[in-house]
Amino acid sequence: MLFSFWCSSTDQLPSRSFYQVQHLAQQPLPSPQLTINSIPYPTRAHWMRCATAALAELSPSPCPFSAFASVIVNHTDPSSLGDLICIGINSASALGNPTLHGEIATINNCSEILQASPFGLSPAEAVVAFRSLSLYTTAEACPMCAGAIRWASFREYIYGTSITTLIKLGWGQIRVSSIEIFEKSFDLPYQTTLLGNVLANETDPYFSWQFNPEASCPQGCVRGNSNRCIRHMM
Ligand SMILES: [Zn+2]
Repeated sequence: MLFSFWCSSTDQLPSRSFYQVQHLAQQPLPSPQLTINSIPYPTRAHWMRCATAALAELSPSPCPFSAFASVIVNHTDPSSLGDLICIGINSASALGNPTLHGEIATINNCSEILQASPFGLSPAEAVVAFRSLSLYTTAEACPMCAGAIRWASFREYIYGTSITTLIKLGWGQIRVSSIEIFEKSFDLPYQTTLLGNVLANETDPYFSWQFNPEASCPQGCVRGNSNRCIRHMM
């Protein structure tokens, strides 16, 4: 393995104090409503809604238990809405691969798409192309996915529901925020803009019902016989 634990671990370096780590984890992010990198908020909201729409596109239900979905977008022309490159959802159970969180599955999909028609990029060119792209994801990436986002050198990474909110809603999480992963990846050659809590008022309901029988289902879904949220059949 190229990046084994022993050589990527910071355990042997002078450690930051607990206070510093806590302080970094609590650093504020830009308001989701701001125009960052010349991309206005309505455009951000559009693509976050596309990420939630990927759930219905790629799974049998618009409100699956693991509602972790992503889209990867080309915002090279900030005057336009941007171009969708690929979509993906958590496919761990569907494909028997525990690493296929939504972000990883989407990166894998984009890697294939960038090397196919009409892009036709070489593998090396596909790797470079990720530096120009933006990844939108319904929930803050876990450390594995946040690390992948930094290794890919995405131009931007935008999430909806935060890890803090996921924990409050009952989700088991590795308690390392994306901002901590970003802070520790400063010596990678390309930086990634991080925007959080974008359209969280719409993404939070996708994660609110699983451990709370009293919670409402996401839009378009109702409680079924097993008390799981299922597609609302009109
Ligand atoms: Zn993940």
